[in-house]
Amino acid sequence: MKHVILGNGPAGVIAAEIIRKRAPHDQIVMIGSENEPPYSRMAIPYLLMGNISESGTYLRKEPDHFDKLKIEQIHGKAVAVHSQAKNLELDNGQLVQFDKLLIATGSVPVRPPIPGIDLPGVHPCWTLEDARAITKLAKPGSRVLQMGAGFIGCIILEALASRKVDLTVVEMGDRMVPRMMTSVAGGMIKKWVEQKGVQVHTNTKVDAITQSQSGLSVALSNGQSLEVDLVISATGVKPNIAYLKTSGLDIQTGILVNEKMQTSQWDIYAAGDVTESVDFSTGERIVNAIQPNAAEQARIAAIAMTGGDIESLGALQINVLDTLGLISSSFGLWSGAKGGDHAELVDLEQYKYLRLEFLEDVLIGATCVGSTEHIGVLRGLIQGKIPLGEWKEVLMSNPTKVMDAYLGAAQAQSAWMN
Ligand SMILES: Cc1cc2nc3c(=O)[nH]c(=O)nc-3n(C[C@H](O)[C@H](O)[C@H](O)COP(=O)(O)OP(=O)(O)OC[C@H]3O[C@@H](n4cnc5c(N)ncnc54)[C@H](O)[C@@H]3O)c2cc1C
Repeated sequence: MKHVILGNGPAGVIAAEIIRKRAPHDQIVMIGSENEPPYSRMAIPYLLMGNISESGTYLRKEPDHFDKLKIEQIHGKAVAVHSQAKNLELDNGQLVQFDKLLIATGSVPVRPPIPGIDLPGVHPCWTLEDARAITKLAKPGSRVLQMGAGFIGCIILEALASRKVDLTVVEMGDRMVPRMMTSVAGGMIKKWVEQKGVQVHTNTKVDAITQSQSGLSVALSNGQSLEVDLVISATGVKPNIAYLKTSGLDIQTGILVNEKMQTSQWDIYAAGDVTESVDFSTGERIVNAIQPNAAEQARIAAIAMTGGDIESLGALQINVLDTLGLISSSFGLWSGAKGGDHAELVDLEQYKYLRLEFLEDVLIGATCVGSTEHIGVLRGLIQGKIPLGEWKEVLMSNPTKVMDAYLGAAQAQSAWMN
């Protein structure tokens, strides 16, 4: 049996290793398009901060790790997948045959259609190569403009601030992290970073970037024009599927997978950022481009590819963010559901916030700022869909009682089941 793993990020690497464990004699080939050892994009901010060197981003530290596991590595970029012929084509013309294929090619940064986006000095922050370019330009005192204050944007922001640059963030949404945080939480994060010396423009777009005598001139939709040395484009990512147009796979925003991570062609699986899987909370399709999701989907795919009986429960949205030291998190249906109700506790002065979303007596979502103590419990309550019974009223009047509610409601549930 020949397993081909397309993509050597976290999803590809985890899947290759699990397949090896479960099928010691199968052939495994892992293909990566970047001229680097398998690495973690998540580690790039630490590289920018100077906390680690490039080798610190590598997913496996021993140089012969994959050789020892008999995982053959090929450097090449897939340009087409032929599902019926069961092969894929690399950019050098090589055809790679497979019995089972895992597609784990991640996402690509969205390139906003802004005049000047291709100018030197404008970079996404997605690859090690991007990180090298940013390191050269983001020196202490450099004027840096970051487009986008989403999840990845906020993570990069921390790294840039630590490089002591003069930082301006431009976000077209009405708040920071608009697709992951309520307006109260997004507003708190904005105030927090402004107090740390970062300038933030929300409800603002970058209209155009032009070369100027002192570097780059950035025209904003609010009429302002800023002179900067570096523009970082962090306006979101999308599944990396352009090369799959003729593959015959069912694809919408990402590759559609079932609960075993199988695509519409049963010998072809997909895992990680490239997929569009089923959301745990809604049962609807979702692209959940975060690393824990990539790791879990890779585990499921690898077990299924080697004949194991396993099914995903669906991707539960959990986002935990550290923005210049302020921790925020959101879970499940954090913006609530039709017919549901909510409880909210806000302390703007102390940067403390907790909002719980209910549907009947079940917790379906939450947003939290300034504390990490409830993270495990909130996840447990939402993922377990535990009926809260009388505990719902307790939480409606005091949302911080989530631990008591978890223990009380879970005990009541297990007593009932016995
Ligand atoms: C700066 C930054 C910070 C982040 N921080 C966090 C965080 O704190 N928490 C979190 O959960 N997530 C974070 N993420 C997101 C996280 O890195 C991704 O969710 C994760 O990398 C997804 O893993 P993956 O294996 O699906 O895809 P990727 O890591 O993107 O790996 C895909 C691999 O496929 C290769 N490839 C692509 N196209 C082809 C092709 N045509 N042929 C062959 N190979 C190909 C790529 O070179 C790459 O190596 C961060 C991302 C960035 C950029």
